[in-house]
Amino acid sequence: MPWQSIRGHDRVVEELRANLRHGRLPHAFLFVGPEGIGKRTFALALARALLCERNDPDALDPCGRCESCVYCDAGTHPDVNIVSKPADKHELPIQVIRALCDDLSLKPVRGARKFAIVDDADDLNEEAANAFLKTLEEPPAGSVLILIGQSTDTQLDTVISRCRVVRFEPLTDDDVAAILLEHKQAESREQALRLARRGEGSVTRALGFVDPAFEVFRRDLFDLLAAPEGFDPVVLASRMHEFIKDAGKESVAQRARARLIFGEAARFFRSVLWQTAGLEPPSHDAGDRVAIAALAARLEPETVFLLADRCLEGDRHIERRAHVPLVLDAWSHDVAKSLAASSA
Ligand SMILES: [Zn+2]
Repeated sequence: MPWQSIRGHDRVVEELRANLRHGRLPHAFLFVGPEGIGKRTFALALARALLCERNDPDALDPCGRCESCVYCDAGTHPDVNIVSKPADKHELPIQVIRALCDDLSLKPVRGARKFAIVDDADDLNEEAANAFLKTLEEPPAGSVLILIGQSTDTQLDTVISRCRVVRFEPLTDDDVAAILLEHKQAESREQALRLARRGEGSVTRALGFVDPAFEVFRRDLFDLLAAPEGFDPVVLASRMHEFIKDAGKESVAQRARARLIFGEAARFFRSVLWQTAGLEPPSHDAGDRVAIAALAARLEPETVFLLADRCLEGDRHIERRAHVPLVLDAWSHDVAKSLAASSA
């Protein structure tokens, strides 16, 4: 996880360097910002830099060759513990948090510091968050705790007040394109930039567009939603389900694709909302614009708002592991009904 590969967050690195120069490294961080912009990668890179056994850790410039750096690159450093929400759960289990805090209270195995990183910190329930409070109040010597989430809204005030909140901004198109090229997810800079524009600052979202089939499906979906004659919700739900199943046998891959679809549909309706308000919709895609204009011309803003909200609700149901065909079916019916009612 080389530090140099962390793009777009130079400001955060400089702030941390300044803290370290003054000997003030916070013992707990809350990293917040949109999904897919590198917060987890950043947390791991920070651990690697502070654990380097050859270079001055405060310079945040790890050597990349010492044993500690090598362990970090392999994801096997004994003093770096990272946990995330299990794929089959919608919350971070309290047992996982307790084990993490217990581990943090032990002496570091190799150096002077020990890291506990909690990905998906938005999915801590109150009980699990409270389990942290003791560790946050009396942090074991040398321990660094990093919570990663999308916003501070889901965190308890007692947690926020004990953490240094670090906000991560969406990446620029150039940064996203460079990351896609580095990870060999695009064949040319041109393709990388096209995917980056789709990603709107998120690598995860840009990756969803690597499969050209998604682009085609998305186009069909928007055209169908904008069709003046309406659509058959049963047919739409079944087409969506077929496409989601094409993502692979794994339920994780299928859910990721379902969330991508709901995310895109929500963006689509949000663009319609912009247009109904007389604003330029954010989409640069010519096909999108035709569908957006068609709906904006015949829907009331209230209806569009409810439709966008209904897409986010679908996304939340998928995230909380509801049965995919049921979610698709309910969504298709609700959307068809709203569209038919407002066209009548
Ligand atoms: Zn090193």
